[in-house]
Amino acid sequence: MAYLTQPDYVKYVCSCGQLKPITHLYFCRHCLKIRCGFCICHEVDSHYCANCLENMPSSEARLKKNRCSSCFDCPSCFHTLSTRATLAQPRQPAQEGGGDAKVENKQPKKMYYLSCFNCRWTSRDVGIPDQPVASGGWPERTNPFATRINQLLDYYKAIAQQEKQEKLEKERKKFAIRGKYITLTDKTGLTGAMARNIAGLPSEGGSSSAIAGFVASQPSEEVEELPEDVYTKEINLKQITSMPQRLASPEWQPTSVSRLHPLAKLLSVKRSQRCRACDHNLTKPEFNPGSIKFKIELLAYYHVPEVKIISFETVKPGQTTALLLKLTNPTGHEMQLKLMQPEDLPPVESSEETTIDKSLEKSLNLEKDASYKSVSRAPALGASVRVRGAARALSLAQRDDAAEYDDDAAGGGDGFIIWRKSNKVAVRLEVETPPSAAPGTAARAALAVQHSYRNTVPAAQPPHDHTLHTVLLLDLGTVSG
Ligand SMILES: [Zn+2]
Ligand SMILES: [Zn+2]
Ligand SMILES: [Zn+2]
Ligand SMILES: [Zn+2]
Repeated sequence: MAYLTQPDYVKYVCSCGQLKPITHLYFCRHCLKIRCGFCICHEVDSHYCANCLENMPSSEARLKKNRCSSCFDCPSCFHTLSTRATLAQPRQPAQEGGGDAKVENKQPKKMYYLSCFNCRWTSRDVGIPDQPVASGGWPERTNPFATRINQLLDYYKAIAQQEKQEKLEKERKKFAIRGKYITLTDKTGLTGAMARNIAGLPSEGGSSSAIAGFVASQPSEEVEELPEDVYTKEINLKQITSMPQRLASPEWQPTSVSRLHPLAKLLSVKRSQRCRACDHNLTKPEFNPGSIKFKIELLAYYHVPEVKIISFETVKPGQTTALLLKLTNPTGHEMQLKLMQPEDLPPVESSEETTIDKSLEKSLNLEKDASYKSVSRAPALGASVRVRGAARALSLAQRDDAAEYDDDAAGGGDGFIIWRKSNKVAVRLEVETPPSAAPGTAARAALAVQHSYRNTVPAAQPPHDHTLHTVLLLDLGTVSG
């Protein structure tokens, strides 16, 4: 989709001030505003393995360290490993040789190994024995530092719990919230004990002992000497691992290829996205990992008129050049559209405010961090050329999927509209370049689009009609000399 929508040439101004192509934007039907990845909440809906499509709740995923227990990646090239079967001849004791009746029991047995179809690495290369079952059962290596890592984890969890409790107590005094129940989902990484503690319930007594009993690491002056032949020994690059190969298994960091081990495949997540201002979902995928469909999919591409550059004349200082644009109405309703200068837009009032709930959520480090408001800025568009002849109202028919097959386009007849076809229209505009424009600099034009929008949520009520504004920046190459 992206190549059709000219991501580098036409950029929309998000309500937070970011410039993004329309394919990277969302549209909140409740706030009636464009949102981008920067100004929405990203939430993990489910964890699943992209290879075997098994899904699991987040608690189980955390327990499995976000890795699939039955799929592996190649430790050499990181491609997914495939399971291959071979027939293994059972060892025949010498005295039983030749007996026909015994052969039935001594049928070759199927054994399985892992193989990479990309680089031909196999689990046999590193001496991992073949397995009698196709999935699972692969020998697991234990992390040599597991005990220490668990100690550290417990210690930091205890510290985090202590800090959160202190912070919450401060907030409590500030707002004197009574009888308000705070839901702590496991998405926040808080354990049951921590949640109990925050809620003021007696803890299981683990936290203070974890802090008290912790032994900190000691720095040491003594470092193991390098082997004597480190500068003289010839090295075989085929036998030592590359840096990415080492870092792919941080627990072992094998230096020799003979120590490479299949990597348990990392889980993928399905994300849903939520408007930060109104908390409504902007996208929500279907739960089934095999499905690529969405239950909610409020993409700007389906709600905001799409503007594409058909062609433009080279921009020259002090001259007026032609610019042809195509405008598309993606919605199921007729759209009134007007091209404007960005400075003629009505000023936007800022209605987003911080409430006690919001600041409490922030203090608990839940996902609804409202700090983006402080960085939202008026777009520095940097437009160097002006679009003229824009102030014309247009009407665009609703999207009609059947009309996509029509070849005929109706001519506009006047100098402005070049052609019309179903929900699309091509218009001719003029670009005015100031004589002071320096040759070689970027020629950018800002354009505002005023469009009507029929909101059909909530469904039970009659639809509301709104007039919305969108500002976009057109990239018209460079100013020619
Ligand atoms: Zn919203
Ligand atoms: Zn944004
Ligand atoms: Zn898997
Ligand atoms: Zn490979």
